[in-house]
Order: sequence, then structure tokens, then C-alpha cells
Amino acid sequence: MKNTFQEALKNKDIKAIRESPKSDLHNHCLMGGKLRYMEKFYGKKIDRFRNAQKGIQSINDWIVNSYRPVFDKTGAFDQAIAASFLQAKSDGVTALEMSMDATIPGLLNIPAEKVISALQYYHKEIAPEIVFSPEIGLARNLPVRLLMASVEPYIGSRYFKSIDLYDDESAQPLQNFGKIYRYAKSMGLKLKAHAGEFSDAAFVKQSVEILDLDVVQHGIAAADSEEVMKWLAKHNIQLNVCPASNIVLKRTKSYKKHPIRILYDNGIKVTVNTDDVMLFGKGNSEQYLQLYKCGLFKAEELDEIRKNGLLP
Ligand SMILES: [Zn+2]
Repeated sequence: MKNTFQEALKNKDIKAIRESPKSDLHNHCLMGGKLRYMEKFYGKKIDRFRNAQKGIQSINDWIVNSYRPVFDKTGAFDQAIAASFLQAKSDGVTALEMSMDATIPGLLNIPAEKVISALQYYHKEIAPEIVFSPEIGLARNLPVRLLMASVEPYIGSRYFKSIDLYDDESAQPLQNFGKIYRYAKSMGLKLKAHAGEFSDAAFVKQSVEILDLDVVQHGIAAADSEEVMKWLAKHNIQLNVCPASNIVLKRTKSYKKHPIRILYDNGIKVTVNTDDVMLFGKGNSEQYLQLYKCGLFKAEELDEIRKNGLLP
């Protein structure tokens, strides 16, 4: 039988690549949609994300200065969720793990139940065919007491399936999040955290060990250590990699130079993901095509990577 995804890559047919089922397992909900969609709703121009020299700090600056004001308009929260589901649907995503920050209820003055009902509503309205696994997002620069208080209503709802930790990797020691992660595990959540985006290979291993992670978001720094890669492969730790994000944030020069190849060659289960379409501008279909066109992977290998994300 002809493999349509592989054929689509070989023909460089973006439309056919989009039509192939795929996952997106590293996606931050309120920034998962197209910027143009939010601009249309806002009725004003929103600055493009440009000055990425300062990594995570650049993102936080953009959120505060350019994106946060959009949320002063009634309905912005709903529209941002809708934009993320529309983007996923248009890209042929069939398995979506998308995080909602735990402090959103406090920040936008929306009760946790309303946050959950908005996710449920737009999933059902826009893309009921997508297997959607809602994820709790935690910013690691916030006090642990605030994070714990914020995750309780989310976890208590039994709606969320996984938990993730992001923002500046050096913000505070990993041990500080141990209690939250033990609680999340006891409630049956899948444990994920960003690691090795800007830090080193040792931090990727420490994150898995200290937080008992099932999956690492990014994890690309592991490519610098054969020992850590061996360890990750042995423990079957999946890395949800985001090539476009890594390039825009200057973590790597190009698709051709991206360390995902080294990780793959060392037997680590990798997936391709968007991170923030609003900032980095690329859906997963475009990223698969870029990884193929630059010669980093063969079509058969990208198909294997695509299928990694579709496994339960
Ligand atoms: Zn991320």
C-alpha cells in the first residue's frame, strides 16, 4: 500500500502533508493559533515576535508588551483557544496535547471551571475529531506556593491529563517542584517538563530523575552527551522537539543543523511539535517538509517520527 505521508514529502506537497494524521504534543494553548486570527478579533495590529536574542526573556517581553493588551478586550481568551484548535485542525493534527497555564484564572479573573468549559466547548465546536489531551502548564519563575494553589482546582477537576513546567530553566531548583509533581503523579497525570532547551544535557537527566518525568519538552541539549542520550533511550524517555522554535530563538542555526538528527540516531524517541505557532509561524506540516527538504531526514524516517506521536 502506498504511504501517503511519505509520498507527500517526496512530492513536496504541503497540502497532502497537512492531510496526513499527525500529533502536536508540545503546544502552549493561548499562543497556539495564528497571530492574524487574533489581530482580526482585536481589530488592531499586534507586533510580530522579532527580537529573539534573549531567549525566554524575549518571549516574556513580547507577551507583556504586545500580547497581554489583547486580553483587555472581552472575548480574547475564548478567541485564543479557538485559534489554537483551528490551527491544529488546519494542520491535520489528530492528537493534541495542549497546555493551559495554571495561573490564568488569577491573571484573567476567570474561574478554573470556566477555563475548562471553554477548552471543552472549542474542542467540541471546532475539532471534535482531534484526540485532545488537556495539559496543565506551570511557569517555573513563580513561587511554588502560588503554583500549588493554582494547580489544585485544575487537577481536582480530573479534566487534565498531563502537567508541564516551562519558562527560565534556571529560575529555581528542580526540587522545589517535587511536591507538585508527586501530587500530579498520584492523581494519574503524565509528567512532562521543559528541559535542555537552553540548559545542558545534565539538566535534562536531572529533570527526569528529580521530577520523575515521562516525557521531556525540547530536551535537545541531550545531543551534547552520548551518556545522557543512552540513558534517555534506555529509560524510553520521549523528547517533544520543536525545530522552528529552536531556530527562531537561535538555539540552533537551521533545520539542517538541528540536533534532532543526533537524538534520533542515538535511539531516542522524538516527535516534531509547534511550541507556539503565534510566535514561530510554522505548523508541523511545514516543519516536516523543511526537515525533509534540507536533507536531514528521509521520508521514511520522518514517517517513523510522525507515528511516534500517534502512539498511545
Ligand atoms: Zn514550550
